[in-house]
Amino acid sequence: MTPVISLTMDKEELWQALLAQIQFNISKANFATWFKNTGVVSKNEGQVIVTVPNNFSKEWLENKYNKLIFKILHNLDEGIKEVKYLVGRPGLENMGPSMTTADAYEAVPQLEIQEFKINKESNLNPRYTFENFIIGPFNELAQASAWAVAQSPGSAFNPLFIYGGVGLGKTHLLQAVGNEVAKKVPQKKIKYTSSEKFTSGIINSIKNREVEKFKAVFKDIDVLIIDDIQFLSGKEKTQEEFFHIFNNLYEKNKQIILSSDRPPKAIAALEERLRSRFEGGMIADISLPDLETRLAILKAKSQEKKVGFADDVLEYIASNIQINIRELEGALNRLAAYQKLNNQPPNLEVAKTLLKNVIFSPKKLANPEKIIKAVAAFYNIKEKDILDTSRKKEIVRSRQVAMYFLRQELKSSFPFIGKKFGGKDHTTAIHAYNKIAKEVESNDSLVEEISLIKEQIYRL
Ligand code: ADP
Ligand code: MG
Repeated sequence: MTPVISLTMDKEELWQALLAQIQFNISKANFATWFKNTGVVSKNEGQVIVTVPNNFSKEWLENKYNKLIFKILHNLDEGIKEVKYLVGRPGLENMGPSMTTADAYEAVPQLEIQEFKINKESNLNPRYTFENFIIGPFNELAQASAWAVAQSPGSAFNPLFIYGGVGLGKTHLLQAVGNEVAKKVPQKKIKYTSSEKFTSGIINSIKNREVEKFKAVFKDIDVLIIDDIQFLSGKEKTQEEFFHIFNNLYEKNKQIILSSDRPPKAIAALEERLRSRFEGGMIADISLPDLETRLAILKAKSQEKKVGFADDVLEYIASNIQINIRELEGALNRLAAYQKLNNQPPNLEVAKTLLKNVIFSPKKLANPEKIIKAVAAFYNIKEKDILDTSRKKEIVRSRQVAMYFLRQELKSSFPFIGKKFGGKDHTTAIHAYNKIAKEVESNDSLVEEISLIKEQIYRL
């Protein structure tokens, strides 16, 4: 082998080894999003240059994964002292100036448009997969539980109960389990249905005296998925029939997966025996996505839709649509429609106009920065101190209040809150939130403080 070839082998092998290890450290979806189309262009005197498909990935790898990448590379080859990232395509030695995200999408050949057909038997929509489900602190427990269930239906957690607000990925996750099981074991019988459909099925079958026939459909199902189970509230007859279907499947170790907009104990007019069944397995919530994950979702969706928008446009959307992932998608669709009509992607100004109706005035929205600012101002301490690790009594107290607001107003996940405040553990965040929430019940002056700070947060 000539030295040149062995050098090439070297860097490629190195990158392959890195990718193999990264896969164990991060989720499948994040791996697919951030490490697809990456490679190494050169390895010289301790410096490794990694190519990434666009600026967006570059920033992401630099800010979020550089430590991990460096650690793994350094373990593989002690001589490596530095990792740099360059926009370009792997294999291109001679790269021009950085591409914008949009350029990058044009440059990289796109996948064929996939057509999604809903399976008539299972009601599963193949568009919902684990591969295109982005994970962040707000949904990682739900995703991990769903993944575990997909790996061993009927034995990991039964039932699996996922709850969370509108448009946050419950249906996506439920269907992803179904699709994953169907892919792995095609002969398994899977059924996805909404609780409304289930209810009307029961009611019709009662009318037509076909209840037994209706129930027979569920007899030999391996994975039963019922979405939005909160709608069973108050429907006694349906609950009764569902109870029998549930037991029958459960006893045969068949997997049951449910979703709801609230936890079982908060569903009104739900029979106690059903509630206790729901609570007998795994309950996982999906809270609100943090900014980073919202950006990751926008990026992944643009790729899916084969459109590319400038980073500032994506950032504008991500920082202004804070709650609902479906709305994030809606915003992208508007911009995509513009791009199609005008043959060019909208710039930030155009995007702002296009999204005027979708995005409320940002002034009305809270965010972690406003919360920290308002809390610091109220207690007359420095913002930096709240975010730091100081253990001074009054600072610890303000920090707890700030943590409380992040949870209360933004529904941030506890791991996210912990990390935000001096890289603390999620248990610290849980403790802070519980402490303040409990005190609010009995301490009137704290209630007053909280409401004053809140006013301030929404005024900023
Ligand atoms: P829900 O059932 O909670 O109301 P959906 O599952 O219908 O929400 O999600 C709304 C939209 O957002 C869907 O198009 C879904 O694919 C998308 N979505 C939600 N969460 C994610 C995620 N984590 N990654 C990628 N797409 C997501
Ligand atoms: Mg849904």
